Amino acid sequence: MAETTKKGKCFLVGAGPGDLGLVTLRAKECIEQAEVIVYDYLCNPEMLRWAQESAELIFAGKKAGAHTLTQDEINALLLEKTREGKQVVRLKGGDPFVFGRGGEEAEALAAAKVPFIVVPGITSAIAGPAYAGIPVTHRGQNSHVIFFTGHEDPEKSASSIDFAALAKLGGTQVMLMGVERIEAITREMRANGMREDLPVALIRWATTGRQETLVGNLSNIAQRVTEQEFTAPAVAVFGDVVAMRQELNWFEDRPLSGKRIVVTRTRAQAGVLSEQLRTLGADVIELPTIRIEPPSDLRAFAELVQDAHGYDWIIFTSPNGVTAFFDLFYKLYDDAREIGPARIAAIGPATAQRVREFRLHVDLQPEEFVAESIVREFRKEGGVENLRILLARAEQARDLLPKELTALGAIVDEGFAYRTVPETRDDFGARRRLLEEGADLITFTSSSTVENFLALGLPWPINMKVASIGPITSKTARERGLEIAVEARRHDIPGLVEAIRKFFGNKAVE
Ligand code: SAH
Repeated sequence: MAETTKKGKCFLVGAGPGDLGLVTLRAKECIEQAEVIVYDYLCNPEMLRWAQESAELIFAGKKAGAHTLTQDEINALLLEKTREGKQVVRLKGGDPFVFGRGGEEAEALAAAKVPFIVVPGITSAIAGPAYAGIPVTHRGQNSHVIFFTGHEDPEKSASSIDFAALAKLGGTQVMLMGVERIEAITREMRANGMREDLPVALIRWATTGRQETLVGNLSNIAQRVTEQEFTAPAVAVFGDVVAMRQELNWFEDRPLSGKRIVVTRTRAQAGVLSEQLRTLGADVIELPTIRIEPPSDLRAFAELVQDAHGYDWIIFTSPNGVTAFFDLFYKLYDDAREIGPARIAAIGPATAQRVREFRLHVDLQPEEFVAESIVREFRKEGGVENLRILLARAEQARDLLPKELTALGAIVDEGFAYRTVPETRDDFGARRRLLEEGADLITFTSSSTVENFLALGLPWPINMKVASIGPITSKTARERGLEIAVEARRHDIPGLVEAIRKFFGNKAVE
């Protein structure tokens, strides 16, 4: 198919306010199918993981004062990429048409007769107050809501916010942008007759693990912002409904609220731990230290996979090995029975679980990755003499297992299923965040996570404590000069999460 005949389309997509759960199904679908994604500073970068590996990701910036691309450049970029016949997603924080200049982008596309689609998102103007425990409307308190922007086009000379009208209208007033100008704004509001004691709340990084809320009233909020060094991005709510937060503050009150925790597993494995910590309120920074890559000689491994049915046993030593094996296997065959009479051994529960996910039974499951214990298990099965064994493992594996099995008379083929390489990219800004904002705790779930993290050579954030999944990991960490603050009693992810929860104050779980 000729590239030029492909019809491009531009999707103006709302990325929601930050919480990944607040992204629409349509938005997710757009990200998954996009060939180009132009995204903003306010989009949660985690959602870029839904994109195809081949998608071109372009940061369009717009952190106050640090514009990466001008609005004209963004418009031109959208036109250019769409005209190339690409599926282009313009991903914007919150809703694309609420104070995000999405209207201007749509106009540019419409004027150029380039097809576009708008996917609304949950705006921070609604989600911010909701996550701070503030209903924007409440029967008996107000009958309307106003959204206004505190940050106007700097080229406009006079303010176009009609403060007299705002004062007269009352109700709930939600302001986006303009935290930096809160002093001037509240001064104008008071000068126009709004109550000195009108409750005000500022919610920054709303709906994310780093949400913080500052409450005051019209006469003191500006001073509090200065004192607390409260910075953008924040949503401001002016109105009596703010008082309801005292009763309804549901989000900032969780066991790990306000704690920033680093998760160091690979991207593919981080999910469960991150998810559990986030559910408890933590601000999780996923900082993968290694990446799984295909083996140097993929062809050699593919040949072994193709001949898998010729073995008596296939031994897997890690979940990654299982995935690499079956990904290839199902490229070569479309029938699971092609595995033939080969039996499957999986070392460790996570490896066995991965095998089961491919709908195959595990015939032998040595718990420990120690050659003797594996050999012992095989003895129970009648030994390994003259048996053909395929060992699917990491390229760098350096243990004695193949030698031991060979010594017992087995015919062992080692298949290098994948290799691990240091993660050098920082596509989602995790390293930058760790360096800029620090963290309260870092989690290590294996000795290799300790070693791989230290190998990155990042400066250790002040006061960052260490949580370890168990004694072996702790030992490695101590040998490398780290002090262990938390060690899980049960050496699995739920055990680690439980230990962290206890460490941060033993608050009851809801
Ligand atoms: N289209 C966006 C708003 C873009 S204007 C929306 O619908 O939410 C940028 C302003 O939005 C910021 O200055 C801030 O006031 C607000 N904002 C966006 N996301 C926010 C968040 N997670 N927490 C607090 N404020 C946010």
